[in-house]
Amino acid sequence: MENRKKVIICGGTGFIGSHTSVELLSQGYQVVIADNLSNSERDILDRIETLSGHVPIFEEVDLTDEQACDRFFERHSNTSAVIHFAAFKAVGESVNKPLMYYKNNLQSTVNILRNMDRLSIPNFIFSSSATVYGDCEELPITEKSPILPASSPYGKTKQINESIIEDTFKAENNLAAAISLRYFNPIGGHLSGELGEVPIGPPNNLMPYITQTAIGVREQLSVFGNDYPTPDGTCIRDYIHVVDLAKAHLVALERLINKKNKSFYEIFNLGTGNGFSVMDVIKSFEKMAGQKLNYTFAPRRAGDQAATYADVTKAKNELGWVAELSIDEMTSSAWKWEQNYRRNLS
Ligand code: UDP
Repeated sequence: MENRKKVIICGGTGFIGSHTSVELLSQGYQVVIADNLSNSERDILDRIETLSGHVPIFEEVDLTDEQACDRFFERHSNTSAVIHFAAFKAVGESVNKPLMYYKNNLQSTVNILRNMDRLSIPNFIFSSSATVYGDCEELPITEKSPILPASSPYGKTKQINESIIEDTFKAENNLAAAISLRYFNPIGGHLSGELGEVPIGPPNNLMPYITQTAIGVREQLSVFGNDYPTPDGTCIRDYIHVVDLAKAHLVALERLINKKNKSFYEIFNLGTGNGFSVMDVIKSFEKMAGQKLNYTFAPRRAGDQAATYADVTKAKNELGWVAELSIDEMTSSAWKWEQNYRRNLS
């Protein structure tokens, strides 16, 4: 009776993984989530079920544990594809704990790919990042922009993972094709307010810092630098709504399953193609939340680039995907989630 295609989502209870799980389940895929819950809560599974109307299969598994990973894949060998989000992602922490990052973010990929080959699971989608472009000054950033040295061990794990994937799919084996999706700055949450980002400890990223300040968990947002060579002096980024991003995974998955890919390994930038400054994000937030944000200008943060934004032509032409949600929808959905999440905590 079960003829829905099965997809394994590694790291499926995390920020982007959970939104992608909702999209896939809503489209009729059977979703198996593998996650060690190191940076997420088990109750995200209930939220995924409520929003999609379907129950994901969940297995708490550490994918860096070779034997545990083998056993997990053996239980789910009849799978069409694997989407791999499971990784540590705090840039600053990776500078202080490089080995923890290399072990976690690389070992899991090696274990997953080895099992996919062994069990003939053909398709793979990797959660990559614009951080692989390093300090790229050429704007907008295209998929052909140079891969410059990454400024953190976190960024290096994304670069090395991409090489591992390309080399593996190039070799003769039981694998078919892979796609790396290079995200720019994912923010926002499910439009219902029922799913979003849950940073553990003080957030490093702008959007959760804004919403936590607005709700009173943090006293003040520091805007890192207002003397950059940008129109208002604050850094420019290509913010992309997490729901748009999740939908891009669905499109990439169908491209692989339907064998529409043009080579064994493809790369796509995922952004809106538009740059917004830190002040633009704050102004959008204030407008959508209907309240002023307590912020102050602070010195530049080490390692920040003045501006980055994507050329998204390739995703548009090849995947037929474009981001649809606006900066106001990003800030309002992030705020809706923050309020909802705190309400449930109290
Ligand atoms: N930022 C900020 N205050 C914060 C966190 C971030 O001013 O508390 C700025 C940061 O300097 C950058 C932008 O917000 O210009 C986006 O930073 P984030 O860490 O969210 O993403 P990144 O682009 O560094 O991956």
